[in-house]
Amino acid sequence: MIFKSIGLALKRVLRPRCVLCQMYEAQDPYPLCDGCRADLAWRGETLAVQDLSIQIAFAYQWPIDRLIHLYKYQARLELVPVFQYGLMQLQRPEVDALLAVPLSPSRLRERGFNQSHELAKKMAYYWNIPLLTGVNRRDGLRQKGLGRGERLQNLDNAFSFEPSDKKVLPRRIALIDDVLTTGGTLLSLAAFLRAKGVEELTGIVVASQHQHDSNK
Ligand SMILES: [Zn+2]
Repeated sequence: MIFKSIGLALKRVLRPRCVLCQMYEAQDPYPLCDGCRADLAWRGETLAVQDLSIQIAFAYQWPIDRLIHLYKYQARLELVPVFQYGLMQLQRPEVDALLAVPLSPSRLRERGFNQSHELAKKMAYYWNIPLLTGVNRRDGLRQKGLGRGERLQNLDNAFSFEPSDKKVLPRRIALIDDVLTTGGTLLSLAAFLRAKGVEELTGIVVASQHQHDSNK
């Protein structure tokens, strides 16, 4: 009896705190307390950014902005379940493969991990969709200020497809990224893949600063 209560007491003490407020207990399976989880700004919508339709889980605002920052710049990988939780509420894409937006080699070295790839791995497992590898990004992608022809030319300087086993690209791919700002990177990657014969592309992001179509 006494051991049981010591065990329970220990369990209470050892239970992890919420990573955000550091005050309340994290509620399994998330590293957040219920209050902080309720504060997440759910969006759950699909945006059309040019010709790419992108599903968005959260609005890029407190506390998700802070969580993403901690995750990316302090390698707080224990936060992955928060983002995963958001992505799991989105519609499963009807595609043949998931692809994480690749990081350039210099960025990858500096960060130590690709934040989008960690999310894509989880979602590939959850949705039971193969994860595509072999699409790489070169250092120094600069698309701003280029004309359309130059942009297309530039894409081959920006990305490459080097499969380890002579695979071809699947017909339909969903691109996974952590944050959508202007959508420039996603659009460039989609254009690169289309030029390589991919027929259907869609985007899935954790959080977006992108507002509704401002041309209206
Ligand atoms: Zn909390």
